[in-house]
Amino acid sequence: MTYSKAAPVVNPPKSKNLPLSLAVSFIIILFLLIFQDNATVIPILGFHGVINNKNSVTQLEQGRMHYPQKNLERFLEYLLINDYWFITSQDLYEILSNQNHTNSDLFVKKKPIMISFDDGYRTVYTNLLPVLKKLEKKYGKKVKVVLFINPGALSKKSSVNSTNLSCQELRDGLQQGFYDIQSHGLNHKDLTRLSNKNLIEELLESQNELRKCTHDLDPQQKVASHFAYPYGAYNQRVQKYVSKYYLSGYLYNNKILNRSFLKNQYEIPRLTVNRQESVQDLIEKFDTTFNEKSMKFLDKKLN
Ligand SMILES: [Zn+2]
Repeated sequence: MTYSKAAPVVNPPKSKNLPLSLAVSFIIILFLLIFQDNATVIPILGFHGVINNKNSVTQLEQGRMHYPQKNLERFLEYLLINDYWFITSQDLYEILSNQNHTNSDLFVKKKPIMISFDDGYRTVYTNLLPVLKKLEKKYGKKVKVVLFINPGALSKKSSVNSTNLSCQELRDGLQQGFYDIQSHGLNHKDLTRLSNKNLIEELLESQNELRKCTHDLDPQQKVASHFAYPYGAYNQRVQKYVSKYYLSGYLYNNKILNRSFLKNQYEIPRLTVNRQESVQDLIEKFDTTFNEKSMKFLDKKLN
């Protein structure tokens, strides 16, 4: 009797292994899920102007940097439908400063993305702001964009002929909650070629000018707290001075931000965008599962 009762005990080691391996797989899957949720990779796109066929021939011919309004709208709509989180420079700063607090509310189940526009082209007001307002009405969500501005090039008055933004236009977009206004140096100079004195002037004056333009709308001085190197040009000396006046520094190097590999907050990579790139090209820069089938689905959804 005792033997027959004891006999089944021979098998348990096998059945004990199964739950163990299941547990290990579960932990690995959980780890991967948490890792993904914590937004290790954060795409930051770098645009310039926004064109449509109402723009003058000169504006249309200006470089390859200006992106077609229709495509941009479609791209932003894709991000809205897919529940992306449009982060500001301050949001990113906080995400990067909280590297060790991975369970913070900042990260859980969110897909952060940053949309930035350099050089202060007026089309960011005339052709982009109306799109942002339209999308807010349609989806009840605000698309926030980061503008890296050279205040030395701001147009003095809002004029139809000017190709540059004015202070009033910046204020308007800020007041409506669409613009995050940051610095791109006073006069868009290659900082690596300047003397220390001129370098400091480019950094400090641009901050002063932008804050002067927005002071009553920005009591916490979030404006001009972050910096994008003109031409993406930087070296250790430039970085050292930028870190005296700004909380973070952005490059323009067509690389994607991976939090695990970021050396410091003054070398934040951005993906470059040019006019030739389709909406699908933009999406594929960061969403590797996107393909032609998804594009057809997107077209159906948007029409
Ligand atoms: Zn620039």
